[in-house]
Amino acid sequence: MRLSRYFLPVLKETPSEAQIVSHRLMLRAGMIKQASAGIYSWLPLGFKVLRKIEDIVHQEQAKAGHMPMLMPTIQSAELWRESGRYDDYGEEMLRIKDRHGRDMLFTPTAEELITDIFRAHVGSYKDLPLTLYQIQWKFRDEVRPRFGVMRGREFYMKDGYNFDLTKEDALHAYNRHLVSYLRTYERMGLQAIPMRADSGPIGGDDTHEFLVLAETGESEVFYDSAVTDLSFGDRAIDYDDVAQCAGVLEEFTTKYARTDETHDAALFEQVPEERRRVARGIEVGQIFYFGTKYSDALGATVQGSDGKPVPVHMGSHGIGVSRLVGAIIEASHDENGIIWPEGVTPFHAGIVNLKQGDAEADGACEALYSALTALGLEPLYDDRNERAGGKFATMDLIGLPWRITVGPRGLKNGVVELTSRRTGVSEEMPPEQAIERLVEIYAPHRGG
Ligand code: ATP
Ligand code: MG
Repeated sequence: MRLSRYFLPVLKETPSEAQIVSHRLMLRAGMIKQASAGIYSWLPLGFKVLRKIEDIVHQEQAKAGHMPMLMPTIQSAELWRESGRYDDYGEEMLRIKDRHGRDMLFTPTAEELITDIFRAHVGSYKDLPLTLYQIQWKFRDEVRPRFGVMRGREFYMKDGYNFDLTKEDALHAYNRHLVSYLRTYERMGLQAIPMRADSGPIGGDDTHEFLVLAETGESEVFYDSAVTDLSFGDRAIDYDDVAQCAGVLEEFTTKYARTDETHDAALFEQVPEERRRVARGIEVGQIFYFGTKYSDALGATVQGSDGKPVPVHMGSHGIGVSRLVGAIIEASHDENGIIWPEGVTPFHAGIVNLKQGDAEADGACEALYSALTALGLEPLYDDRNERAGGKFATMDLIGLPWRITVGPRGLKNGVVELTSRRTGVSEEMPPEQAIERLVEIYAPHRGG
C-alpha cells in the first residue's frame, strides 16, 4: 500500500475524551471512529489489525479441531425465555420489537441458539464430541461503555461451545481450549495468564479468565509472580491427547492466580512473600464448563449407547477479539505510539523515502516495494511529499515493527537503513539484505 493512496486519518491533537493510552492511540492513528457511545467504525488500519487477530483465532481453533460457523446477531426472545435468561440478563440485553410486535434481541452471547441447533440436528452419542464456534458481533448495553473498544457496547467476540457425552470428555474440551487459548494469545505477542474466576450469569463450576497485565485493566488480580515465567512456546501438542492437555492445564493453573471475585487471602498467604503480586489486568477471554445447565433447560439430549436419552455436557469459551486490539496496545506502546507485535501488525514494514522526487531514491523504494510484495509481505510505502520528521512520526504512531529508510546519501554507498520500532536500533545494509531479514523475521508468523 502507498500511503499517498491510503485512508489514514491520523489526528495531531490528543482526543480529550480518551482516558487510556490504547484508546488515545487508536483514535490518533486513525484506526477507529466512534459512531455513538461504545459503538465504533473500524477504519482501514484498525480493521486490518482486527482481521489479523481474527485470523489467528481461526487458525488456532482449526488446529484444535473446532468448527467455525455463523449465527445471527438478531435473535428471537423465545429461546431465551425457555432458558430463563430473557429475564435474568437484565438491562444489558438490547431488546428490539419487529413490525409484528414480536420480541427480538441483539445477541449478547449464543448458548441458547447453539443449543437449539444442537437439539434439532444431533441425536446420537456417536455424533459427539462436537465443538462449534463463531466470531460474531455481540451487543451488551454496558452501563459505562469506556476505554474505546475495550469496553464497548457492540464488540467482536469469538464464542465457542462444546458438546460432550460425559463430564470427563467435557473437561478434556475445557483443557483443550485452555491450551489453544494460550497459543492464540502468544501468537499475538501477549502474555495472557489464566486465572481462576467467577462464572457470573453464564453459570457453572469451572471457569478461567485470561488476563493481560496492565495498569489500566479493570480487574484486580492476585498472583504468584512465577506464573509470568511460564510460556507455551512452540511445543508440539496433540489436541486429542487427554493427558497432554491436562498436563498443560496443570502447569499453567496450579500456581496462585485469581481475580478479585475468587481471591482467597489465606491461600495467597502461602505464596512466598517476595513472589506475591497484586496488580491489574484486562480480561481477554474466558472458558467455562457448565455441565448440563443449558441442555437440561432446553432439552438437549442424545441417545446413549443403551438407547436412553442423556443430557449433554457443555462448555462455552470466549475471546474478546475487538478488545484485544486495545489490550495489545496497552501492553505494547511507548510515548511515540503503538508498537505492534509481528503477529498482528497491519503492515509488515514501512518504507520511508527521505527524498521523494529524487530518481534514485524513488527507484530504490519502488524496487523494495515490489520485492517485498512479491515475497508475500505487505509494506506501507510513505511516498508522500513530506519532511522526513513527519514521515517518521507517522510510522512511529501507527507502530509498524520494522521500517526501511531510503535516502540518496545511503544509496550512494549501496545501503538502506532497517530500524526496529521496539528497540529503536537502526542498521545499515544493502536493500537485498533488508528484504532477507524481513522474510526471516516474519517466517514464524505466517499462516499459523
Ligand atoms: P467483562 O467481565 O469484562 O464484562 P464478561 O466476563 O462479561 O466480560 P464474557 O461473557 O466472558 O465477558 O465474554 C468473552 C470475552 O469478550 C471477554 O473475556 C472479553 O474479552 C470480551 N468482552 C466482554 N464484554 C466486552 C465489552 N463490553 N467490550 C469488549 N469486549 C468485551
Ligand atoms: Mg468473562
